[in-house]
Amino acid sequence: MKSLALHWKILIGMLLGVTFGFIMLEVQGGGDFIASWIKPIGTIFVKLLKLIAVPLILASLIKGISDLKDISKFASIGLKTIIIYVLTTVIAISIGLILVNTLNPGEGVSTETIAKLTETYANDSGVQGKIAEAGRQQASRPLDFLEAMVPDNAFLALSNNKLMLQVIFLAMFLGISLLLVGEKSAKPLKDFFDSLNDVVLKMVDLIMLTAPFAVFSLLANVVVSSGDPELLYALLFYAGVVVGGLFLMICFYLVLVSVITKRNPIWFLKQISPAQLLAFSTSSSAATLPVTMERVEEHLGVDKEVSSFVLPVGATINMDGTSLYQAVAAVFIAQALNFDLTFADQLTIVLTALLASIGSAAVPGAGMVMLVIVLESVGFPADKLAIGLALIFAVDRPLDMCRTMVNVTGDATVSMIVAKLEGKLHTPKSKEWDDHLEEVK
Ligand code: ASP
Repeated sequence: MKSLALHWKILIGMLLGVTFGFIMLEVQGGGDFIASWIKPIGTIFVKLLKLIAVPLILASLIKGISDLKDISKFASIGLKTIIIYVLTTVIAISIGLILVNTLNPGEGVSTETIAKLTETYANDSGVQGKIAEAGRQQASRPLDFLEAMVPDNAFLALSNNKLMLQVIFLAMFLGISLLLVGEKSAKPLKDFFDSLNDVVLKMVDLIMLTAPFAVFSLLANVVVSSGDPELLYALLFYAGVVVGGLFLMICFYLVLVSVITKRNPIWFLKQISPAQLLAFSTSSSAATLPVTMERVEEHLGVDKEVSSFVLPVGATINMDGTSLYQAVAAVFIAQALNFDLTFADQLTIVLTALLASIGSAAVPGAGMVMLVIVLESVGFPADKLAIGLALIFAVDRPLDMCRTMVNVTGDATVSMIVAKLEGKLHTPKSKEWDDHLEEVK
């Protein structure tokens, strides 16, 4: 197996996992077998990735900033990143809106299907939980996100994976101060974080050795936990529109890579594919982040000074796939339930889906919570929200897998573009997990 590239090993693991899942669906007690004996492998893998996310962001961002030598460079990287993130998200939402308005997937949904989906899912704890979560998020004031970004206790921030923006803030603050204390005082701390960074990247390599087994487990579990196949078929047209839009978005990224960074798009896909496949298997850009960082730095040649900022920020606030999905889903629900949307409503969707994608957590299913806020922004009646979400709930997991893959690809593309614009895109030097194995044998 050693000669096979990592992405092939992961793909084989995924295919075997799906096949095994389908076989287990036919076997009595197959679902329970997977839950008891197979699922833990995937869960442990995701836990390991989450385990190293905070140390990696901290070490890599501090190293990235302290290597800059010129603070104004950091402002320029930050500004470019935010502008490009907003532009790509607006393009993603526009692609979604154009597709859903021209193909009208909501008009073909029969009243019986709506009744069946409503009966099955409207009172489901999953749907009700999303509406309740959206209510909590909406109650906040406009500048709450700024307030929430600033930690008042460094150790609390570092001890909670959900506080990723606080970790980024702390790392930036530390990194900038490290630049300002002068070479002599900075050196010990800088060396410490340099070394921590190398060690954590090695941990990524080691964890990735188990990736083919982990995706087998994750996908077998997705197959046995998915809903009634008949209901999935009824939503095939809607799901096709979302997937078609996501596919166009990937093509758009490849054009950007080719035109702006002058790199071969197929090469780009090959290098980033392990991160994409993991995003697909885990449905979480946050869990995938360590792998995205490793691929972008060591396999795409983006300088750490850029990737250490662009990628963690992107995982938290840049979700092109999610915002495209929200645009399609909102209009699809409106079409199916005969709720008229004016042109102004569509523009409102662009704006709220943009903000919603910034506010969505990088975890499975978060896009659907924010969809509630997008629907409410166009005056969708509150009493019909549960019915609206019930319409799309059955296919949410497979679509979540696809949109997460786009979210991660978007972050990697933007990091390459920013690196190119800053003159920080190099020929990659990839490291293997066993580069120094001989020395310790
Ligand atoms: N699962 C997505 C992510 O982690 C967010 C979503 O669309 O639900 O990027």
